[in-house]
Amino acid sequence: MNNLQPSQQLFKHLTAYQSMAEKLSKEKENKEKNPNAYDFLEVESKIKNFWEKEKIYSTDVSKLNSKTYSIDTPPPTVSGKMHIGHSFSYSQQDFIARYRRMKQGVFYPWGTDDNGLPTERLIEKTKNVKSKDMTRSEFIKLCLRTLKEITPDFVDDWKKLGISADFDNPYSTIDDNSRKISQRSFIELFKKGLAYNKEFPTIWCPECQTAIAQAELEDKEHPSLFSTLKFSVGGKELLIATTRPELLPACVAVFVNPKDKRYKSIVGKKAKVPLFDMEVPIITDESADMEKGTGVLMICSYGDRFDADAINRHKITPRIVLNPNGTLNKHAGKYEGNKIKDARRHILNDLKEAELVTEQKQITHVVNVHDKCGTEIEFIPTKQWFVKVLDKKKELIKQGQKITWHPDFMKKRYDNWVEGLEWDWSISRDRHFGVPIPVWHCEKCNEIIIAEEKELPVDPLQTEKKCPKCKSKAKPEEKVLDTWATSSLTPQIASSLIKNKITIPYSLRPQAHDIIRTWAFYTITKSYLHENKTPWTDMMISGFVTLGGEKMSKSKGNVIQPQQVLETYGSDALRFWAAGSKLGEDLDYQEKDLVTGKKFITKLWNATNFVFINLTDYTPKKVKLEKTDELFLNKLNALINNTTKYFEDYEYSKARSEIEKFFWHDFADNYVEIVKNRIYNSSGQKKESAQFALYTTLSTIIKLLAPIMPFITEEIYQRYFKKNEKTKSLHICEWPKSKETKESSYKDFDLVCEILSRVRQEKTKAQKSMKAEIILTLEKKEKESIKDMFEDFKTVTTSKEIREGKFNVEFI
Ligand SMILES: [Zn+2]
Ligand SMILES: [Zn+2]
Repeated sequence: MNNLQPSQQLFKHLTAYQSMAEKLSKEKENKEKNPNAYDFLEVESKIKNFWEKEKIYSTDVSKLNSKTYSIDTPPPTVSGKMHIGHSFSYSQQDFIARYRRMKQGVFYPWGTDDNGLPTERLIEKTKNVKSKDMTRSEFIKLCLRTLKEITPDFVDDWKKLGISADFDNPYSTIDDNSRKISQRSFIELFKKGLAYNKEFPTIWCPECQTAIAQAELEDKEHPSLFSTLKFSVGGKELLIATTRPELLPACVAVFVNPKDKRYKSIVGKKAKVPLFDMEVPIITDESADMEKGTGVLMICSYGDRFDADAINRHKITPRIVLNPNGTLNKHAGKYEGNKIKDARRHILNDLKEAELVTEQKQITHVVNVHDKCGTEIEFIPTKQWFVKVLDKKKELIKQGQKITWHPDFMKKRYDNWVEGLEWDWSISRDRHFGVPIPVWHCEKCNEIIIAEEKELPVDPLQTEKKCPKCKSKAKPEEKVLDTWATSSLTPQIASSLIKNKITIPYSLRPQAHDIIRTWAFYTITKSYLHENKTPWTDMMISGFVTLGGEKMSKSKGNVIQPQQVLETYGSDALRFWAAGSKLGEDLDYQEKDLVTGKKFITKLWNATNFVFINLTDYTPKKVKLEKTDELFLNKLNALINNTTKYFEDYEYSKARSEIEKFFWHDFADNYVEIVKNRIYNSSGQKKESAQFALYTTLSTIIKLLAPIMPFITEEIYQRYFKKNEKTKSLHICEWPKSKETKESSYKDFDLVCEILSRVRQEKTKAQKSMKAEIILTLEKKEKESIKDMFEDFKTVTTSKEIREGKFNVEFI
């Protein structure tokens, strides 16, 4: 706020808001001037209430069957508000959901993901409590109570956006049912020998003080000091370069390459560690890179994953110097209690003072940091729970191949992730809030005691158990499951809401690409381990929203709030924009795209009103069609075919542009103009034929557009079509049916439009009115082709006469 010079981004962002507000007030002015103008705010809010009241999107369990299209909806985390990325990707999945609802019926469940850190923080803040001061179940109860209070407001943004999921029967990943399903999954994996508890050098975040999974790591370029230190062997110097001198007290061995002639004579001897009064064995190992540093490698417990492997491989006893909170322990001697970075500084200083450093180089290297807090990770041996995945890479890649990925190049990201796995899936977290691991340990005989099905969901901290073997009191497991261990079961959780009438594989998982390695991978893994099935047959992967080509972020001040966009342009316009990019592609937020969407909405509204002024006493009935109408309806048929195909292939952006083109060009600019006269000035079959075509076209166009622009299409349906179609809502009408159509069946209509456009050009060129009468000369072939449509054609071109010869427009 006290920034005197706001960044350009922020400035741009502010002007964007100002112009939005200006447009909004202009909108209101226009409305006062023209009472027939489309008031999206009023209509969208009315239609939203109508859907809710009539429960249009509620699942009717009795209607679910094998043909129902099922969606494993991403559950958003209840924290703050819907952001622009949400509005983008949820719109895209909703296009598919709405299409499928009309085509074959959908199961489109809704849930929220509430067992992670964001929810814990949110509850602590709103209720002014500390999760750790309460029992876990008390905190979970408070959580569920608070979520009940705040979720309706949170979810309302999704409803305003027109998301058509079943909000009436939602789940939360922390509710009793989800905890039960998650714990049951753990028990089953344990019984199958696929979940195990092991003391293991685990990836550890010293900031969050918990074990984390490989999927939570991010690479970060980091400057570092590469120092060459003097070790010694039998009084002779042995130089070793390292970036982590603070791990000297954890040094347990020194590796040299077996081919390295320089060090042949010292293999098997002991090296003295500088500053610390201890000696470590010198061992040959291929992993010592002769080219790097001095070719000698210091092995510590644990500098990285490689150290952990090496120590394991050579069966060396580790010397752990790091406490879980990131300070050094008593093995570090006088450095005990130092944080890692302080210890590094102190030890380097002392080494220099003792002249034990020969060379120092500034380097930049890539380090692993925790994605949630940016802290460099460490390796600490702790007892954690893992799920076996490393020995199943091949099978998991095969599972990925059974799924159809949209777009298909996203599958490569999944393959790369699985191929690059280096650890089993670590599923336990040293946190208080979450789904408890349903286990007790007997400290006397090492028996692991598992909860029984009837106890679930259970919190071991509040349930006493005796060891069935030695009868001594068992110690409850304090850890909770990682959030992904539960959210990887969203299909099973959603199925439980509908008495398992639909089970895996679901038809679709929609999600963003940044969570392929987590949410997608873990869900595929669980469905494979439990049921040897894929969780879904198809996946659709959305891209991100950018602003001026840059990722939006609060710190950059370049965040567009969808709530603001909804108020200024409405949901239909926002969705129109979201339909503008292909699946998987990032889309830049540009206000002009919203303006285009709004223009389209206005035109659709005006065209509809025009058509219905001329259809006031009309009820659709079969009629012998005039040639123009027949060919135009053939073209409409082709539109249905193309649009259907695009929606089938998740190509909603192609569907949008195809419908748009048809609407502007073929319908509004040409067909309506061509039949205007017949509607006004004729009667009987000729008029009825045009009326039939107009009615059919418009009712088809609003159905085809319904998935993308659900509000205006519903409003038009309710006003004009409902009385004939009898279905409560447009969105549960049947998708338009069509027969196979050849291009040849409407090419003469296209020719009419093409000549019409040439005539219009000539009139414009001659600065004549469009109503100016002409004598038109057409090539023989063209004239022949359109002769059955002469009457309409002559009227729309205001031709007195049509002659044969070279194309010419003569004004009279
Ligand atoms: Zn962390
Ligand atoms: Zn026991």
